[in-house]
Amino acid sequence: MQLSIRDLSKTYPNGTHALKAVSLDVSPGMFGLLGRNGAGKSTLMRILATLQEPDTGAIALGDIDVIRDKDRVRETLGYLPQSFGFHPRVSAERLLDHFAVLKGLVEPRVRRGVVESLLRRTNLWDVRARRVGTFSGGMRQRLGVAVALLGSPRLIIVDEPTAGLDPEERVRFLNLLSEIGEGSVVILSTHIVEDVEELCNRVAIIDRGEILLEAEPARAIDDL
Ligand code: ADP
Ligand code: ADP
Repeated sequence: MQLSIRDLSKTYPNGTHALKAVSLDVSPGMFGLLGRNGAGKSTLMRILATLQEPDTGAIALGDIDVIRDKDRVRETLGYLPQSFGFHPRVSAERLLDHFAVLKGLVEPRVRRGVVESLLRRTNLWDVRARRVGTFSGGMRQRLGVAVALLGSPRLIIVDEPTAGLDPEERVRFLNLLSEIGEGSVVILSTHIVEDVEELCNRVAIIDRGEILLEAEPARAIDDL
């Protein structure tokens, strides 16, 4: 499924032009959105995740109108925000099970299978019974990935995922993302060049609400 963004603009009530006629075409695979703080990344990510509306512009995910048809987008969307407030006293397994119910996986046997497979894929199977409050930053981030993957999303939005991870966790986390993202459109927003350098097949550079350049990582980074 192809993601097409056309002339997206957003101005906040205080007059900040967060996005200025942003257009992008994204194919399945890892796509990096690189820009410094305040460039407009989160605004774009929240609009893609149907949490916010642009002033003008259009977004299509396959045949889905992302701005108008939010329910259909949400059926096929995985969103990993910068930080999430998981209940600290609940085990990873129960938490994931709970989100699975919310996603409509009501049949217990099916749900158990999905939850087990996600815990294994994110390397959390051995710690599934532990309270989330005892998890390291890297483990919490992987649990966020497991939640985002419920329902086999075709569009996965990951906003500044490596903030707060130590270098080793960062590498492991990025590798996990690239594995799980296969076949889906995965958009990774970051201000860290190294995050996009190795794993993304395309990169767009955003600055003050404008896309400066869209290219393969090596070229985009040379032009920085
Ligand atoms: P990034 O994620 O790249 O840091 P943001 O999308 O968060 O960028 O912000 C883009 C610009 O919009 C920044 O100048 C920021 O200060 C501003 N901004 C973000 N959210 C709001 C808001 N709710 N109200 C006013 N200005 C905002
Ligand atoms: P911490 O963040 O406290 O280091 P982790 O859960 O990240 O804890 O890692 C615990 C152990 O599990 C690590 O020592 C590592 O060897 C292993 N591990 C975690 N994630 C992966 C992964 N994706 N691939 C391989 N090994 C992993």
